[in-house]
Amino acid sequence: MSKTIAINAGSSSLKWQLYQMPEEKVLAKGLIERIGLKDSISTVKFDGQAASQTLDIADHVQAVKILLDDLLAHHIIEDFSEITGVGHRVVAGGEFFKDSVLIDDEALAKIEELSALAPLHNPANAAGIRAFKNILPDITSVAVFDTAFHTTMPEVAYRYPIATKYYEENQVRKYGAHGTSHYYVSREAAKALGKPVEELKLITAHIGNGISITAVDGGKSVDTSMGFTPLAGPMMGTRSGDIDPAIIPYLIENVADLKDAADVVNVLNKQSGILGIAEVSSDMREVEAGREAGDAKCTLAFDMLINRLQKFIGQYFAVLNGADALVFTAGIGENSVAVREAVVKGLSWFGMELEPEKNVFGAEGDISTPDSKVKVLVIPTDEELVIARDVERLKK
Ligand code: AMP
Repeated sequence: MSKTIAINAGSSSLKWQLYQMPEEKVLAKGLIERIGLKDSISTVKFDGQAASQTLDIADHVQAVKILLDDLLAHHIIEDFSEITGVGHRVVAGGEFFKDSVLIDDEALAKIEELSALAPLHNPANAAGIRAFKNILPDITSVAVFDTAFHTTMPEVAYRYPIATKYYEENQVRKYGAHGTSHYYVSREAAKALGKPVEELKLITAHIGNGISITAVDGGKSVDTSMGFTPLAGPMMGTRSGDIDPAIIPYLIENVADLKDAADVVNVLNKQSGILGIAEVSSDMREVEAGREAGDAKCTLAFDMLINRLQKFIGQYFAVLNGADALVFTAGIGENSVAVREAVVKGLSWFGMELEPEKNVFGAEGDISTPDSKVKVLVIPTDEELVIARDVERLKK
């Protein structure tokens, strides 16, 4: 019996979940926000209780120290030695990391080197790794990459049709993201369908604040909608998704406060997508409420999202030459009855039909009619569990 902690470190946040392994029991989870700012907040949830404290947390090392002290203070652990493994989510693994790895100095150096591919994320992930190594130097430390599941994509899918030298010299290619989620829900979908994943063609739709759709053939990712960075694909909460790249220089030349590419990319990442169209919020619950109240902008945002989702799902029916099931996951995919209904309605030609009594709030598993040729499933994602399992798998 051992305790394993799954860590998802962002630039100013650190999300964690503590498991009893191999039972896979969640003992506690928490979130530290506003790292490096004044009034950082650390929240811990355990045993049906929640505790929160506000204090100044300067960096990730201090955040890890506070999280470990919280575990002791709430008697979730009695001694640090009870924690034997830590798994870190790392956003960019490039072409180098095709699976999770034990983190040694070389692996950490490589993760930092790959920061060029995820400048906002990899440095934060590396800071989380260093912080744990600092405080608990002897525990098993594993990196789990968002990109690893997509390293099986064929070259026709991952190459961009731009000059070869930009791939060979600058590593410009599709890497994808959310790999841990697509991996997990494809396996759970196979269980729900009662077939080995190797025998299935699946389209997995991770629809949360970030959105990515993946074509999974025989358990392997063969195409995915996120690209060189997580800005590509359907429109998302605040990200534009795919747009004509010529818009970028046009905006720089014509909009006074957009001075360079970094300014425009910032707009495309943070002020676009659902937020850019609905204007009230990037949160789908608010947009759905606005749509129900007859707000034109919220209605347009909803309709545009459905249109983009349908187009990507349609593409992957073509990539896979047919599919056994469409899988909805993440915040919107798991919870929005209206989004699932609208997406599937427009794809009925492909042989998909929802059972209205099954497509309800809180639904899990198969929500399609018995006659639906392509099954439609709701599978709650669990990226932290994949991380904890990988720590167990790679433990020495
Ligand atoms: P995630 O990034 O996976 O946490 O998903 C966040 C998104 O899920 C936000 O846009 C939320 O508004 C959305 N979401 C969560 N619950 C619901 C719900 N009941 N109906 C519609 N959207 C929801």
